[in-house]
Amino acid sequence: MFDVVIIGAGVIGCAIARELSRYQLSLVVLDQASDVCEGTSKANSGIVHAGYDAIPGTNKAHYNVRGNPLVYQWAQELAVPCKNNTSLVLAFSESDLPRIDALIARGQQNGVRGLSRISREEVQRREPQVNPAVAGALLAETGGIVSPYGLTIALAEHAAVNGVEFRLECQVLSLSHHPAGSPETSHFSIRTSQGLIQARAVVNAAGVFADSLHNLLSEDKLTITARRGEYYMLDKRIGAQFNATLFQLPTEKGKGILVTPTVEQTLILGPTSDTIPDKTDTRTTAAKLEEILATAVLTWPGLRKDSFITSFAGLRAHLAEGDFRIGRAPDVPGYYLAVGIESPGLTAAPAIAIDLAEQIAADFDLVLKQDFLVPPPPLPDFSLHLLADPDHLAQLAAEIARDPAMGRMVCRCEHVTEAQIRAAIHRPVGARTLDGIKRRTRANMGRCQGGFCTPRIIEILAEELACDITELTKAGGQSQIVTGQLEVKA
Ligand SMILES: Cc1cc2nc3c(=O)[nH]c(=O)nc-3n(C[C@H](O)[C@H](O)[C@H](O)COP(=O)(O)OP(=O)(O)OC[C@H]3O[C@@H](n4cnc5c(N)ncnc54)[C@H](O)[C@@H]3O)c2cc1C
Repeated sequence: MFDVVIIGAGVIGCAIARELSRYQLSLVVLDQASDVCEGTSKANSGIVHAGYDAIPGTNKAHYNVRGNPLVYQWAQELAVPCKNNTSLVLAFSESDLPRIDALIARGQQNGVRGLSRISREEVQRREPQVNPAVAGALLAETGGIVSPYGLTIALAEHAAVNGVEFRLECQVLSLSHHPAGSPETSHFSIRTSQGLIQARAVVNAAGVFADSLHNLLSEDKLTITARRGEYYMLDKRIGAQFNATLFQLPTEKGKGILVTPTVEQTLILGPTSDTIPDKTDTRTTAAKLEEILATAVLTWPGLRKDSFITSFAGLRAHLAEGDFRIGRAPDVPGYYLAVGIESPGLTAAPAIAIDLAEQIAADFDLVLKQDFLVPPPPLPDFSLHLLADPDHLAQLAAEIARDPAMGRMVCRCEHVTEAQIRAAIHRPVGARTLDGIKRRTRANMGRCQGGFCTPRIIEILAEELACDITELTKAGGQSQIVTGQLEVKA
């Protein structure tokens, strides 16, 4: 019997797991995917939202504003790439300026600091590539960017070193509550693809699938629809053209199409917003990618297609009521919700996790550990922009002297070495798949999109995991990379 089961190893499930791992308890995180961060948490804009967008009084507003400074704090603690690059919301006509003022007023009502309206000249001074037809903008000083998979994986690693178990490729098929007897004997039975699990408490952090699991336990039925957001990603040499995240004024479908540098210095354009019937459908489509271009060009008239390296899509878990549901389920003691966590869920994750962990600790009289361990040190980083720093360079030289594999470059686009790939496999909750290596090291994420380094990475994975290369997958399931070997006749 576990004390707590968390269903879902996205940023929300991993953040809750990390916060709960501060207490003396047995905790398992279940995910049907082959790795942590395989759902929405891997495919979003990576923005640390300031909090001017959410409707005052909602959970979204509350957790966004509380989460914003915590993301910066957590990213520093966990050595996750994160930057307070500020956000701008651009208005392209004088008649839209009152909408900028309305966003500022809403943000101030939400308790956001550092909001102001800036002039066309100030926008151009900050962002020379922006359309000179801009009429003015909202400046959000607390806006930022963070690596969404970097944060999720670091939270999972930190939880794991503090005793949390992660069961991957473990799908929850059904669950039931057994309230009989005293609160001490009340428990949940969770039927999974890896057998039956029992627990005293269950946290539902299952993203777009949270409604079907919730409806098995509670009489208060929920409906989540998937809203797909598609993106273009542009090469690293483009990212540095912009400093801030550039929004246009929001539409009825959400925050609209943005242009933003990422923490890795690539640039992303998107996302679209479309309700789709299949909650697993993360395809990108020619029509939506054209829509992105047609809209983003208003922000950035110099936009050219020759730097596009890939496209991707993520699914928003849109709850019918339009807000996050966080906390105790009133009709099922021991069952906790982190449901309907669409944007700004990445920003809100730390605040959601702190609240939920405190509720669970109070309900089950959990005791804090005396020996809570610090996070494992990050992998060394060979990113070119860091090599300008002589201290960083000296540190890497020392690493290479200690282990020559640290100097053998496997991914030439992102400068990832053999030793980094081997280390990613042996970290807590280590990589088991090609995408697992990608999100821990960035090998496969660069301009060639794995064209050069994939064969070498799968050789290393097979060596380290002591398996045949035909057993390896891109992302679990049926996504084998090598399906057999050709017989070479002399
Ligand atoms: C297009 C887009 C852009 C966004 N941009 C931003 C942004 O810039 N800033 C921001 O703050 N937020 C943003 N968000 C929101 C943010 O990405 C999400 O709120 C957050 O990632 C949700 O995390 P999660 O852990 O709830 O869900 P997920 O990451 O989807 O995790 C849920 C997990 O549950 C698992 N699961 C589901 N069912 C089962 C089952 N039956 N058994 C076992 N496991 C199961 C899944 O495999 C999955 O791994 C964006 C979202 C989208 C879609």
